[in-house]
Amino acid sequence: MRACPYCGSQRTRKWYVYAGNAVSRCTDCDLIFRQDRGIEQQWVEYYRSHYFRDFKKEQEELLREGIYEEALRNLERCTTKGSLFDIGAGSGTFLAMARQKGWTVSGQELSSDSCRVAKERHDLELIQKELKDLPWEPHAYDAITVINVLDHLLEPWFLLEQARMALKPGGILYIRIPNGSLHQLGFRLATMCFNSPVQEKIGRFFVLHLYHMTPRFMERLLKDFGFERVIVRPSVASRGLPYPYFSRGQEVIVSWMKGIFPLLSRAAFQVSGERFVLSPSMNVYGVKHR
Ligand SMILES: [Zn+2]
Repeated sequence: MRACPYCGSQRTRKWYVYAGNAVSRCTDCDLIFRQDRGIEQQWVEYYRSHYFRDFKKEQEELLREGIYEEALRNLERCTTKGSLFDIGAGSGTFLAMARQKGWTVSGQELSSDSCRVAKERHDLELIQKELKDLPWEPHAYDAITVINVLDHLLEPWFLLEQARMALKPGGILYIRIPNGSLHQLGFRLATMCFNSPVQEKIGRFFVLHLYHMTPRFMERLLKDFGFERVIVRPSVASRGLPYPYFSRGQEVIVSWMKGIFPLLSRAAFQVSGERFVLSPSMNVYGVKHR
C-alpha cells in the first residue's frame, strides 16, 4: 500500500492499472496518483528541452485563445486588475492577451524555446527558472495563474505555498486543470478492454499526467493553504488537437466531443445547483484571505 503523497494517509487503494502504470486513490483527500511518478530532475529536463518540440502546434497556434479569454473574464470579475504572474507561461500568448487588457504581466517558463518565442512574438522576458528558484516576493501579485500545469508537477502543493505567500491579501489564484473525476473514469473504462488495441484507442481520449485531481481534492487543497471562497467550475475546451498521435477518424471524434461536452457539462452544472463538474477541464479559483 502506498501512502498518499499529499495528505500522508495510508488509506489508499489501487484504483486501476493502465499500460503497466499502477494508479492509486486516497480515500481521505481524494487525490488519485501514479505510483511511479519519476524524479524531479527528469521532469525538469523534459519541460526544459523537449516539451516545446512535442507540443509545437499548441505553442505556436491560437488553440487556447478561448481558454485564455475565459480566464481573464473571470479574473476581472473577482479581483482588481493589477499585477499578474503566470506559471508555465509557454510562448506567452496568455500573458500578451492579459497585457492588452491592462494587466501588468510577468511569468515563469522552463523551456528555452518557449522563452525565445515569447520574446520574439510578444516582447516578453519570461523567468527561466525552476519553481523552487523563483525570486518570489511577499504580497506582490493581484493574480497568479496556473493554466494546465499543476498536475504535471511532482509536488504541486509546493506551488500553493509559494502562491499564498506571493499574492496580495484578497489576491486570486486561478488554476485550470483536467477534471480528474472524468479522466479517471475514462481510464477505468479503458482498462476493462484488457490490454487490447481497443484499450489503447480509448485511453488516448483521456489525460493522466502525474495526478488525477478531482473537484473535491482541489477544493480541499486550496482551503488547506488558506484560500477562501474556493470555486470549481467547468472550463471551455481548447480548439483543435495539439497531440500528434490521433488518426483522422479519432480527430473527428475528439472535435465532436469538444463541441458537445462543454455544452452538456454547463447544463449539468446549472441543473445541479453548481455542484457537478463534468467537463474535461475545470477552472478553480481561490481568494487569499485578507
Ligand atoms: Zn490523501
